[in-house]
Amino acid sequence: MNQNRASRASSFADLMRMTINEAKAQDWTSIRSSQILIKLLSKALASHMLQGNFATEKVTSLEHETKKVEPSAFLPQRNKCLINRKSTTKNRATNKNVMDIIDSQKSTRKTAIARIGTMADITNFSSLCINMDTVISAICTSDEPQPIFRQILMNFVSLVNNPDWAKWSESVGSMPLIHWHCYSFLERIFNCFADFATDFGNGNIMSEARPITELNTKGLVNAITAFKAFRTQIQLNQAQMTPIIIMPSSVTAYTLSAWNNTQSCPPKDSVPATTKENANATTPPPAQSRANKRVPTTPESPDDNSPPRHQKAKRAKKGSKVDGPAKDRKEMGMFFLKNPNINASDVFPRDLSIKLCANFTCRGKECANANCGFKHPTKAGEIPREAVLAIAAHFIAKDIGWFNKYHFMKVPDEEVKKLLGNVKGISSKMA
Ligand SMILES: [Zn+2]
Repeated sequence: MNQNRASRASSFADLMRMTINEAKAQDWTSIRSSQILIKLLSKALASHMLQGNFATEKVTSLEHETKKVEPSAFLPQRNKCLINRKSTTKNRATNKNVMDIIDSQKSTRKTAIARIGTMADITNFSSLCINMDTVISAICTSDEPQPIFRQILMNFVSLVNNPDWAKWSESVGSMPLIHWHCYSFLERIFNCFADFATDFGNGNIMSEARPITELNTKGLVNAITAFKAFRTQIQLNQAQMTPIIIMPSSVTAYTLSAWNNTQSCPPKDSVPATTKENANATTPPPAQSRANKRVPTTPESPDDNSPPRHQKAKRAKKGSKVDGPAKDRKEMGMFFLKNPNINASDVFPRDLSIKLCANFTCRGKECANANCGFKHPTKAGEIPREAVLAIAAHFIAKDIGWFNKYHFMKVPDEEVKKLLGNVKGISSKMA
């Protein structure tokens, strides 16, 4: 680091990359070599790490770029297209040879840390811990007592990579959100460390030689408490061979850009979608069956003056050929909301027997989370009758919105009939 300030970020990024390549090459039988899954470390990330820009709070979303260092920067990078694209942009910037930290800060494009990683299972979580630990190992020597954060990371890795975990998860069956549950603890711990590291008084103790007794260790204590809570929960559930029940709402903040889970890149300079074609182009291609709000051969009836059945069927066929699966998903939905910007968690009653994805089922919203743990029904029959009635009561009580007639016209209950309508509003009120 004995270089001028300007080139530190690139050298630091280089150092981290070297460490990663070394770790990868070391021994393929070791978990550190086999699970490491990070290729691109941006200069922006390095620069934020050098400046101590660490996130001290939980994220609200992982979808876009970030200005702070937080665990998502180390998520396993699986989309090769995104990696390649980001690294060519990076090389171009380096080649100009005029970048320094100050200059790069002037433009937001270069200082934001791209989030291109993702997680699909618990092995990816383990990779995340190893990615982080490897990057930290680039900074510390290996003979001193190891930093507490590294110890915690290695504890995470050993908790999820041992026979007890394997036996447990085999016995209790799939816990589709478990990796994000683990992530929430890791994030909390990271935030606590960031709190400790960015504490003004603590900074003075390190740089101004104030007595160490004045060190504010609250952040460290909180971090360790969080890890202990996590380990206890895992051990309790493993002892009883019960699954950890994860409320999908507790991990909805970890919605990533859907592109991260694909092997392709979003179109460059994605312009705001004005036409149907554009709208389709900015929606990633995979997981279509899951993301489609209904079977493609069933277009929405445009108004109440529906044509006779046979004619409708014809049109349906035609429609499915033209825009079928690619139909703008925002335009579909079983429910209409008065205010489409309402919080997804407020759309349905909290004690609903089925966990429905409000983003998926409501017109004007879109579920971009490939790992979404909520239900994505495509027809009314997939929602239990009593849940439909509970939603109707909730919609009426809270004046939230109305039901799509297309989906619910066969439900005989009065409460539901009163709420039926189309894009324009409730049918009975429009007459
Ligand atoms: Zn969803």
